[in-house]
Amino acid sequence: MATGKINVSVENIFPLIKKFLYSDHEIFLRELISNATDATVKLRHLCNIGEAKVEYGNPMIDVKIDQEGKKIHITDQGLGMTAEEVEKYINQVAFSGAEEFLDKYKDSAKDAGIIGHFGLGFYSAFMVAEKVEIFTKSYKDEPAAHWVCDGSPEFTLEASDRTERGTEIVLHIAEDSVEFLDEHRIADLLSKYNKFMPIPIKFGNRKEIIKEGEGEEAKDIEVEVDNIINNPNPAWTKQPTELKDEDYKSFYRELYPMQFEAPLFNIHLNVDYPFNLTGILYFPKLSQDLQLQKDKIQLYQNQVYVTDNVEGIVPEFLTMLKGVIDSPDIPLNVSRSYLQADGAVKKIASYITRKVSDKLKTLFTENREDFESKWNDIKIVLEYGMLSEPKFYEKAGDFFLYPNVDGKYFTMTELKEAITEKQTDKDGKLVVLYAQNKDAQHSYIDAAKEKGYEVLLLDSPIISHLIQKLESDNENMTFVRVDSDHIENLINKNTTIVSALSDEDKTKLKAVLEDIIPTSTYTVQLEAMDSKAMPFMITQPEFMRRMKEMSAMGGGNMFGMGKMPDMYNLVVNTNNELANNILHTEDKVKQEHLVKQALDLARLSQNLLKGEELTAFVKRSFELMN
Ligand code: ADP
Ligand code: MG
Repeated sequence: MATGKINVSVENIFPLIKKFLYSDHEIFLRELISNATDATVKLRHLCNIGEAKVEYGNPMIDVKIDQEGKKIHITDQGLGMTAEEVEKYINQVAFSGAEEFLDKYKDSAKDAGIIGHFGLGFYSAFMVAEKVEIFTKSYKDEPAAHWVCDGSPEFTLEASDRTERGTEIVLHIAEDSVEFLDEHRIADLLSKYNKFMPIPIKFGNRKEIIKEGEGEEAKDIEVEVDNIINNPNPAWTKQPTELKDEDYKSFYRELYPMQFEAPLFNIHLNVDYPFNLTGILYFPKLSQDLQLQKDKIQLYQNQVYVTDNVEGIVPEFLTMLKGVIDSPDIPLNVSRSYLQADGAVKKIASYITRKVSDKLKTLFTENREDFESKWNDIKIVLEYGMLSEPKFYEKAGDFFLYPNVDGKYFTMTELKEAITEKQTDKDGKLVVLYAQNKDAQHSYIDAAKEKGYEVLLLDSPIISHLIQKLESDNENMTFVRVDSDHIENLINKNTTIVSALSDEDKTKLKAVLEDIIPTSTYTVQLEAMDSKAMPFMITQPEFMRRMKEMSAMGGGNMFGMGKMPDMYNLVVNTNNELANNILHTEDKVKQEHLVKQALDLARLSQNLLKGEELTAFVKRSFELMN
């Protein structure tokens, strides 16, 4: 029997490992199963190239919990190690990796990816075990070896009587880690980290009903079968041509078993130059809570789960998608900020962006109707992308849609065409009218439609930002919400309406109104409109409202303003009979009632009348009826 001291200068490395990687103890299992997988894949390769003259068979990895013995066994049928190899790979190499790791990352060892990368993989076993044993027999015709280490740098290495090819790792679970002896805990970990690893992983047995006998004689019997917990050939490892729509959908269910809603569509990523990347991204039906939605894309490295935080790798706007990305080229040993500056990672992000825009374009051209039917579920991602990724913005022009309030969809080109004739302002700019809420802005929408104007429904929370951008890129366009400013003023008409009131009367009326109406909030504007148009109308200057929306969405404290005040225009139609009435009512009290009533009605149609004021309004209305 050989004993020795592991080649390491740190007196006792294990407490350090434990301490630094405290939050990530659970990854020991991933590391050991990765090693078992590597060993099996290596053997398959050696068999394929004729280097190993053994029967490859149908190897699997077996994970077993021994409750009484407080042990976990991880056994593979891979290429195994000779005693010499244990000496070399476990005692020397692995520990030099550990040392390097500790030197460099004492302070920042949070990223779970670090471990595998530095060859500390095997030693992560000591995060949960007080003693670790290796029983291993190489595929080469050499005696088996038995290595034991109790967490101090001392180890023993002796011959073993193991006869099967492969390696068995035995973890003697430490007192503070007994949670890992729980079957559910291990099952959860296997499902989190190993669900798509390329070699079958067995965890216990399960019962299965099979038919025995034939015809009349046939009967159901219960048998025990291996409980294989992974799918070694997940959809993303296949070629897109091998997969049907149903395969993508069922893979989605495999990834998100708790998700009942089917995805809208998928994008298969598959590139091997200048970097390696495979994966499938899904556009899910978005929930209202976008924050909840994030971090659902899972990152794998050669089918080993790494993280579901893909920030920095996937462009921000696509983090709302779901699915899988698998790449051996994403450096896992570095901080997120470094990742964002990494050239290869940048290329990956722009590749993904391009794939997504290409896919959207294809969907739009191939089946526009279907694309339109999904619009409400995808628009926010697209809007976000247009705002944050210039490359995506460029491409989105081809498929970004502008629905009107009646559910008709326009591309930008179609929209321009549709409004060129009717909706231009004095300077010849196109005026795009839009509503954000069909109910709240109902009366304004109605009025605009009556005039034959096209009214878009742009109702996402970030639309103001996008509109701002569209305007700055399309100098001949201006977006105006139907209840903003006064659209009749803005849009160039061929006929001007004559005012029914004389200039003198107008001055008088204005004075009366400004006496009663709080002018700090409302700017009174007299307009000659169609006599049937509403007598009082409240509008909010487009600019003002948009700035407010943007700062509310977190555009920061724009222009150093704190909370912006509420400012509205009160547009009074001088051609409506009511204007005349107010002007000629002699009774001052009655006049005030009329004005207040009209103002409140206008506020009501803008959803601005609430609480105490609403109560007062209702009361006043009943009084007026008598
Ligand atoms: P890495 O996997 O990054 O090489 P590890 O610390 O996980 O680092 O493993 C160190 C080495 O030990 C491996 O490279 C491999 O040579 C050997 N090894 C570990 N586990 C096994 C195993 N189950 N079968 C064969 N060799 C193994
Ligand atoms: Mg490893």
